[in-house]
Amino acid sequence: MSASTPKADGNASQADEETTAFLRKTFREHYFKHHDEVEIPTMIANREFGYIPFGKGMVRHLSYKSPGELAADLVKQAPSSVFCSNGTYSDPALPMDEKGWKGAELIFDIDASSIPTACRSKHSFWTCKSCGKVIRSAERPARCTRCEGTSTTQLHWSCAECLAATKDHVSRLIGFLTNDFGVSSARISVYFSGNRGYHLHVDDERFEAMDSAARAEIANYIKGTGLLQQQGSDYAPAGGWAERVAASGTKDSPPRLERVVNAFSSRIDESVTTDIHRIFRMPGTLHGSSGLMKMRVHDLQAFRPDYDPVVLGDEEMTLSVQGSPAFSLKGETFGPYSSEEPELPTYAAVYLMTKGLGRVLD
Ligand SMILES: [Zn+2]
Ligand SMILES: [Zn+2]
Repeated sequence: MSASTPKADGNASQADEETTAFLRKTFREHYFKHHDEVEIPTMIANREFGYIPFGKGMVRHLSYKSPGELAADLVKQAPSSVFCSNGTYSDPALPMDEKGWKGAELIFDIDASSIPTACRSKHSFWTCKSCGKVIRSAERPARCTRCEGTSTTQLHWSCAECLAATKDHVSRLIGFLTNDFGVSSARISVYFSGNRGYHLHVDDERFEAMDSAARAEIANYIKGTGLLQQQGSDYAPAGGWAERVAASGTKDSPPRLERVVNAFSSRIDESVTTDIHRIFRMPGTLHGSSGLMKMRVHDLQAFRPDYDPVVLGDEEMTLSVQGSPAFSLKGETFGPYSSEEPELPTYAAVYLMTKGLGRVLD
């Protein structure tokens, strides 16, 4: 069975016990007060749930009979991340082969890291595993410039520029869904992922029963990969792509066609769309690599990904930061930091702690 598991969160496993305890406590308080913001899926009893506890591995194949049961478990477990299947099953708690798959909503994931923006070189960072220094380098640095350590971890960072580009690719995706596939916009739910991207959930019964291969065709169409592969033979773009190519005045030579694809395609993560057994981050829950919320976006253009999903408190706290690039949240810029103990609002402190960059003071 090709059921893939969402990526593990940040570097939480490297965090010390006190930091892990602080994060759990903060997430628990949030869920205690705000569990009503968690979006309960339809057919809850037919969904598979899963979560990643702080500092531990994924727990899957859970099922809940009611929203109350789910909320109680969220407060009790206070996980780093919470997931729910886009598929529905007869028996969601059984092993994958025995669950009895009934269908799945069509889902999309667009992440800032998959869009080739010019800003990338400005935030290609690595952290030294020995001393925590943050090193800016296009390639993995051979040696830490502070302690000479040779082991580094890539730090996935984003900025206003790539977050804006990601939003543009969300608009393109919505265009494909509504214009080319005839999906009503009321059936498309757009969410900020809680970290560096957007998720789209499409609730349209025409896609429900589609297998992985049929979903791959949709994904390839939206990415324009089919157009490029067919080039040179009997290239004949269907429907919307034909109009896009015609509107650009492009004759179908490969470099030109590639330009059209780059200008119009949406860089969705195909592996997410084709995985019909996936558990997907739950709307209204906190992201374990940022402490920001996966939240519904009602007005894409007006949405501020570095402001609106900041839902944790702003009580000041002092923490130890080995190293961090500068980042902006709620209109304020923090850092860069190098071996210091800044006093930060809780949401910014949690942002650093969930990325393995900050620790609770001893
Ligand atoms: Zn070092
Ligand atoms: Zn950027």
